[in-house]
Amino acid sequence: LEIYGERRASFGPNIFVESQWLPFKSAIDSHLHKTWSATSIINGKAVDTYEVDGQTNQLDTQTVLAPWNHEVSAGKVTYANAEVARQAIDVAVAGQDVWKNVPAAKRAEILRKIADLYEENYAELMALCQVEAGKTMQDGIDEIKEAVDFCRFYADEAERLDDVVHEFTDLAGKQSRQVYKARGTFVCISPWNFPLAIYTGQIVAALAAGNTVVAKPAEQTSLVAHFGAQLMYQAGIPAEALQLVIGAGDVGGALTAADNIAGVIFTGSTQTAQRINQSLNDHAQTSGELPVFIAETGGQNAMIVDSTALPEQVVRDAVLSAFGSAGQRCSACRILCVQEEMADDLIELLQGNMAELSVGNPLYAATDVGPVIDADAKHGLEAHIERMSAEPTATILAQTPMSSSSVVSQEKSTFVLPTAIEVKSIDVIGGEHFGPILHVLRYQARDLNKLIDAINNTGFGLTLGIHSRIENTVEHIERRAFVGNTYINRNQIGAVVNVQPFGGCGLSGTGPKAGGPHYVARLMQLSSETVNA
Ligand code: NAP
Repeated sequence: LEIYGERRASFGPNIFVESQWLPFKSAIDSHLHKTWSATSIINGKAVDTYEVDGQTNQLDTQTVLAPWNHEVSAGKVTYANAEVARQAIDVAVAGQDVWKNVPAAKRAEILRKIADLYEENYAELMALCQVEAGKTMQDGIDEIKEAVDFCRFYADEAERLDDVVHEFTDLAGKQSRQVYKARGTFVCISPWNFPLAIYTGQIVAALAAGNTVVAKPAEQTSLVAHFGAQLMYQAGIPAEALQLVIGAGDVGGALTAADNIAGVIFTGSTQTAQRINQSLNDHAQTSGELPVFIAETGGQNAMIVDSTALPEQVVRDAVLSAFGSAGQRCSACRILCVQEEMADDLIELLQGNMAELSVGNPLYAATDVGPVIDADAKHGLEAHIERMSAEPTATILAQTPMSSSSVVSQEKSTFVLPTAIEVKSIDVIGGEHFGPILHVLRYQARDLNKLIDAINNTGFGLTLGIHSRIENTVEHIERRAFVGNTYINRNQIGAVVNVQPFGGCGLSGTGPKAGGPHYVARLMQLSSETVNA
């Protein structure tokens, strides 16, 4: 992982030096063709059946195919149902006393052990991220590093918050103090686009706080999640503290509708967050319980470029932000807003840069853009490109073909070609299109405020890129924009743990920012005690 550590200076020519990566690549390759499998894990046991009226029934098992080649099987997944979900909640609620009474220093030690095990098992984790989620080498490495960072940072947070005691004395000398305590059981629901990093981050944050967890990863990346959970148990997480529910359909809904949960940590689309919020509200009407809800959701992220920016740097950063991870990052740049004076030159550079991208098999170290996650995602993205092609006010500027060295067939895979589309307004784009599609919008300098307002009016507020060499312009845009994370004169997709705490506002989330100093605290309750001295 050390040698893979540096991010590429530019998106295009690959940083991998063959002699350095070959030993790692062969370690990863040795796990690619294993028969991986995933089941739910409740009270430490794999679950492949469920009981109804005293009868034992088999859960559904399906073969999962690699998104980059449907002739390759990633493994077999046994999907839980709502019955199993309810059982997981019961076990987690019953397990609260076990875990919350583990001292913070011990909890931290176990979380750090998870980080060590992730590093030791990087080859298996990389293979799984590549075969199940279609991650490129670079994305797979970033994924593992971020997961490891979450474990170590939240371990530090467990210890830090354990020491935080606020003391107060009133005029009569009476003393009060506030300390952090665990809340109870958290349901952690994660997306497929960071199948290890976000999945792990949610779980270890809740565990760091002394809560028990029921984790439900996205159905598309159950194999990665299952292997990650196995490493967590191996590190010393007790069977009572973590329940894994592998499921789809109504399973997530069954978990968030359960009694006795202290909260839900969710990362995924805005629509799903709204559904969960509604379900928690409905439940509160009858049960009176008000669980904590943390939602990290989608974005309609813009990069604003004025005429003082450096065009080569802008294009490099925009291409990485829009097409890196096949555009499947919540932070990805969706709208490149370019001041009219430099728009023609910039578009030409963009077209040249996109022509250099290597689109294809993510197992090749030279690949820049791999597949999107599944057929539904592919069809949705291609429908948007088609709609834009027919739209009189939009123009397709560039579309990168599949790399000629790529052996995969487009029919038996889920590739979407990186596409740049010029649009005349933000409204015409519609909502978030979660894939390798970049919209380009020209603006006049005098209309900068209107542009920022139009970006704000999308309702999202996740990331914003600014490219300008005028400090006042940067400050002005920052003040007016309604957004969680701003990136100035660089790409807009960094979320390094404890360096760039990440989270949005508005339709993009409620969050206290993952990887930042307020996250674990949000999962704990502040308890006040007054002593009659
Ligand atoms: P999604 O469709 O909303 O699914 C996310 C998770 O929610 C999955 O585990 C899904 O389970 C579960 N789910 C679906 N319906 C549910 C319900 N009614 N109740 C409870 N859980 C339910 O999102 P996705 O397609 O996996 O992820 C892509 C989205 O995530 C994009 O919008 C992206 O912008 C956003 N994202 C945001 C951030 C951030 O930090 N802001 C980070 C990454 C991704 P199933 O798999 O069973 O459907």
